[in-house]
Amino acid sequence: MSKRTPLIVANWKMNKTTVEAVLLMQDILNRLNPGEMDSHEVVVCPPFIDLKQVATVIEYDRSEVRLGAQDVHWRPDGAYTGAISVRMLAAVGCRFCIVGHSERRQMFREGDQEVAWKLEALLDGGIAPILCVGEPAEVRERGRRAAEDFVLQQVKAALSTVDTALAAKLAVAYEPIWSIGTGAAATPEDAQRMAAAIRDCLRQLFGDVAERLRILYGGSLNVGNVAMFAPQPDLDGGLIGGASLDAQAFSQMVQLWRDQ
Ligand code: PEP
Repeated sequence: MSKRTPLIVANWKMNKTTVEAVLLMQDILNRLNPGEMDSHEVVVCPPFIDLKQVATVIEYDRSEVRLGAQDVHWRPDGAYTGAISVRMLAAVGCRFCIVGHSERRQMFREGDQEVAWKLEALLDGGIAPILCVGEPAEVRERGRRAAEDFVLQQVKAALSTVDTALAAKLAVAYEPIWSIGTGAAATPEDAQRMAAAIRDCLRQLFGDVAERLRILYGGSLNVGNVAMFAPQPDLDGGLIGGASLDAQAFSQMVQLWRDQ
């Protein structure tokens, strides 16, 4: 049995107006058993504009569900039109933030350097980063070894300069790009193999702290497959996109992970 508390993260992406986000959050909270929060950590990442109202719903419910953001800018403040800083996220109650999601890397051309800066800014500001890494289909087609090299390079690029004393807050999500939103999840065995390789890399970077870091799988998780990922020894939770927009499916997935 792992000593790590499982972490289940909902990524709502660019979905839900504020009213819709409030209703979804209320629905999720109504369905989550408060007892579930003792053994698990659940994080919900709405769009920036919904954060404040979703925080209010969580607070009113006295829920242990945590608030997270989907992205951040690394600068503390200044002339960065459209950007949101770590301090702003902290002020609204964010405890977590996704960094380096493949949609940001691909569609917004974010590189390893930006990801590393964001990660450092989050750790300095006391927000736990959820670092996303994962290979595209064309790399996976070259085989497992090529996929592993690609992913570990992303891990090292983001984390090489991180201080071990701060690293304990970190989580890493392995999200193969070909599995995101496609319905084609990785096999649990493949996800475990990659998670084990990531943990080895974290050991090289942070020594024993690596045993405490949570490694998640993300990519087309749903009610039908989540239970197969939960027993894998190096997988400590899931990052859930599409299915997290359905309160019934999401709460059931939290429960299914817990029951394994
Ligand atoms: C994601 O966006 O990180 C994700 C895993 O999406 P989905 O669950 O829809 O594949």
